[in-house]
Parts: sequence; structure tokens; C-alpha cells
Amino acid sequence: MTVTAYGEKAQDAVDAAEAEIERLDTLLSTGNADSEIVKLNEQKSATLSEDGGYLVKRALELNKETDGAFDIAIYPVMEAWGFPTQNFRVPSADELAGLLEHVDASKISYDKDTRKISFEDDQMKIDLGGIAKGYTSSRIMEIFKENGIESGLVNLGGNVQALGTKTDGSNWRVAVQSPDDTEDYLGVLSIQDKAVITSGGYERYFEQDGVTYHHIIDPKTGYPAENGLTSVTIISDDGTLADGLSTSLFIMGKEKAEKFWKKYNDKFDVILLTDDEQLYVSEGIADDFQSDYKVNVMKK
Ligand code: ADP
Ligand code: MG
Repeated sequence: MTVTAYGEKAQDAVDAAEAEIERLDTLLSTGNADSEIVKLNEQKSATLSEDGGYLVKRALELNKETDGAFDIAIYPVMEAWGFPTQNFRVPSADELAGLLEHVDASKISYDKDTRKISFEDDQMKIDLGGIAKGYTSSRIMEIFKENGIESGLVNLGGNVQALGTKTDGSNWRVAVQSPDDTEDYLGVLSIQDKAVITSGGYERYFEQDGVTYHHIIDPKTGYPAENGLTSVTIISDDGTLADGLSTSLFIMGKEKAEKFWKKYNDKFDVILLTDDEQLYVSEGIADDFQSDYKVNVMKK
């Protein structure tokens, strides 16, 4: 993780950003036994913090808008594959089919005024891993502003969000990683005041019997999504949205992802790489993206 800020109170801002990363991780991570999400998953009901409540609200909206591709209730399936513990295994088709009966975020009851959440299904469990990082980077933008920072950048494991421009007034330049080579990149984006968030099957995965299994699960099948895309980058003012959509559009595949972008093109832009190495860039950022690839521009 890298946090960069320029200005008189830059050090205060960076310290506060670091504390915020810690705080949100402690509060929301399924990896922390005391987090409110772990407690909710055990007790099946809770009154969430403001942050947890906000994320659940956004996640449930995304579940609707993406027609179920984004589903925070996927967690029992993540556990079956061993992703949370890294004790990886390939579950049987029967086991996955059984677990999928308990995966449906639309069945979560959540009241955004009281922030009370409950699961009727006592096997339901949730995980905010598909949006928490983007929310964290957008929180850091707020912290920067509270500290009078006008120029700053945060990079949370390849998820980037920028405040303003560089100090000389020029745009930030953000490299979009190539899925099959961590040293190489698909191209370079020129941005200001934007989150740039990438999802791909190459980030977290394991191999068994020559097959690669990654951590973005298609809620329709219970298996790692294999719908023709190897990398999805979302560019948006809204870090939470960018993170949720990078996961969602990866699951949708090229055609549905393009349709989705056409419907919501005022909210985000997108860079897609397909299995057969075709690169697609939505028209809103086409002029701000430099690449050695042949770029196919998606038009509204
Ligand atoms: P990363 O966090 O590695 O940058 P993503 O943003 O794509 O990558 O998030 C992947 C994480 O999202 C998984 O580790 C898991 O916690 C969660 N997840 C996996 N599949 C789904 C899904 N269909 N809907 C919502 N969250 C998911
Ligand atoms: Mg994501």
C-alpha cells in the first residue's frame, strides 16, 4: 500500500489515512475474528457501524443493478474453495450446488435508517471483499480534503485513487497492469480525481491438476468466473462503485459488461481485456489512455 499527499499537512494526512486503513480493516474484514462482519456471520443479525452499513447498502444496490453478478452472500462458496484460509481445495459440483441455495443477497433484510441487518437463512454469510478496498480509497480522499490536501494518491494493492492533479497541474499517470505479466502493463491512463480499480483472475488463485482457480466467483455457478475476460479496469469518481463494478463486470463477460456500461456510462468508464487479447476501452476515457495494444473503442 502506498499513500502519497502533497501540502502543508501532508504528514498528518498520510498518518490519518494509515489509521483509517487499519480501522476499516479491523471493522470489516472477514479475516479479523472481532470484526462486525465476522460477528454478523456468526449471529445472523447485527446493528452495523456507519461504514459497514454504508457498504452493505451499496452492495445490495449493486446486487440489483448487476442482476446478481455482485453478491456479498457468496462467502460460503469462497470458504468452500478455501480462499479465506488459503487451504485451497476444489469442492464437488454437489457441494457447490448445495451452498448456492444459501447465496442470494436480495434475501438480506437491511434497514438503512437503523442499520439493522439480519439473515433469515441461518447458513448465510457475507463478505465485503469485493468493495471494501474501493471504499477505503474513497475515505482517504475525504481525509486528504479534511487536511487541506489538494494533490494526493493512494494505491491499495493495485487499486488506485487520485485527488486533484500532480502538484505541477498535470494529470496523474496510472499504469493498468497486464494480467499475465506483473512487470508489463496494458497501457497508461491520464486522470485526475478518479479511482482506477482492476479485477482479474491473476490476483489471487491456486492451481490444482494443471487447472487455475481464481477468487472471483460467478454466483450463478459457484465456480471462478470464466466468461471471456481476463482483466477489467473501472475508472470512476466513486471508488466504492469502481471496486464493486470491477468484480461484477469481470463476472458478466464482454457482452453484458458493454451493455452495462452503455446503461450507466455517466457513472464510470471501463477497460476490458478478453481471453483472445482484444482490448476494449469506453469512449469517455479513450483519449486519456495510451497503449501499445490495438485499442477498440466502445461507443455509447
Ligand atoms: P481484489 O480485492 O483482489 O482486488 P476484487 O475487487 O475483484 O479483487 O474482489 C475479489 C473479492 O471479492 C474476493 O476475494 C471475494 O472476497 C469477493 N467476491 C468474489 N466473488 C464475488 C461476487 N460474485 N460478488 C461479490 N464479491 C465477490
Ligand atoms: Mg472489486
